[in-house]
Amino acid sequence: MPDNKKPSDKKHPEKPEESERIKRAIEIATKAHEHQLRKTGEPYIIHPLAVKKILEEWQMDEDTIIAGILHDTVEDTDLTLENVKKEFGESVAFLVDGVTKLGQVRKNMKDLDTYLPETRDNFLRLMIATGNDIRVLIIKLADRLHNARTLSALPPDKQKKIALETLEIFAPLADRLNMGRLRVELADLAFSYVDPKRYNYLKNLIEENNKQAAKALKQIEQEVSDLLTKEKIDFEISGRIKSVYSLHKKLAKHNQNLGEIYDLTALRIIVPDITSCYLALGLIHSLYTPMNERIKDYIAKPKQNGYQSLHTTVITKNKKIVEFQIRTREMHEYAERGLAASFYYNEQKLTENYKEGKIQHLPTNLLWITELQDAAAKLKEGKKVDLRKLRLNLFADKIFVYTPKGDIIDLPKGSLPLDFAFRLHSEIGGHVVGVKINGKMSNLNHRLEQGDIVEILTSKNQTPKQSWFDKIFTSHARQKLRQILPKE
Ligand code: MN
Repeated sequence: MPDNKKPSDKKHPEKPEESERIKRAIEIATKAHEHQLRKTGEPYIIHPLAVKKILEEWQMDEDTIIAGILHDTVEDTDLTLENVKKEFGESVAFLVDGVTKLGQVRKNMKDLDTYLPETRDNFLRLMIATGNDIRVLIIKLADRLHNARTLSALPPDKQKKIALETLEIFAPLADRLNMGRLRVELADLAFSYVDPKRYNYLKNLIEENNKQAAKALKQIEQEVSDLLTKEKIDFEISGRIKSVYSLHKKLAKHNQNLGEIYDLTALRIIVPDITSCYLALGLIHSLYTPMNERIKDYIAKPKQNGYQSLHTTVITKNKKIVEFQIRTREMHEYAERGLAASFYYNEQKLTENYKEGKIQHLPTNLLWITELQDAAAKLKEGKKVDLRKLRLNLFADKIFVYTPKGDIIDLPKGSLPLDFAFRLHSEIGGHVVGVKINGKMSNLNHRLEQGDIVEILTSKNQTPKQSWFDKIFTSHARQKLRQILPKE
């Protein structure tokens, strides 16, 4: 779950009184949504105000906050975009328009399971268009976060649908923006609706593990603290709790073998500068035996979303396996809040800081945004854009595979043939006897890869098996199998 005690959670110390513009926006939105109710029965204005609060917590600029307050007015009330422009200017109007358009495209994607690749391209086209101003996506994410937090008020079928979409589109999007804390909250909230049983099982498992590891961890924390203090390194150390959904994904990747999950217990160390990161790493390795193949230097080589940290997994004297994550305060802020953190400064200042070497995370991050902006500019001029390339970037944890007829099916990375089969149809999923991948006989444990052509072999006499749960990655397929499994 998200850390709650991190300094970035602190209210803006220098936060000014609510500005006249913001007050005016609240007034206008309240009036526009008058008499409208949410599914919870509360006045509708609760929702835009919650979005406002989230955007303030992310320390977004005033225009974004105002657009957040007004984000549902143009679509759902008599207020027009012209009104917004007159009252609050071009920039706010642009943001409101962007959020409204994103909403409309989503409505056309009736069902995530069945929408056509072309529709997804439309969605993507818009994402790219709004990429011109990434703040549109940030407002959309704040909107989604509040809706996910209040899902319980909706009927079950709607809950599932929104939860699934959150899991497949919005959580990955938060990840692409390196908004770690948001990603975790969105994914865990959504997963608890998509597959409640599995969610509760894993949540308990994590809690159990933490309880059992607590004592050993305290001792390790003490040993490391003593050594770092002795070596005069400034540091903060704390436990990092694994999120439910990331454990779910990891288990699927490792054939449900808990013994292969090495980062269930992790300690996070925050130090003042990069040199201290490597010093701390060396000191930890002098205390405990590193598992050599599990050292990751994301400082020298940041993840695509700009994430930076040193990761190492060690075996302690008591044969405990613990992961350490070592990073600077800046890297930590960025990992938790991602792109939103950047808006705390203006872009100019960011670039300046980057040039002066004060921050390291800008390049990969800007690369992605630059890519979006380029694509947006090209689209505006009516030029062609290689959407496939961008799609892979935006949906980094998805793969696209083909039926023998050439239909594209998108699945989460890590999916297996049965996931594919159930995605096609429960009828097919229930009668699987084998699979051909790229024309060759294969087996149901074979992880699908980008671009594979997958042919499912079925037989009328085949019946669904309990043991198939071990050969399934997606909660979608898990659900379908549960539905058709013969009752005992
Ligand atoms: Mn909304």
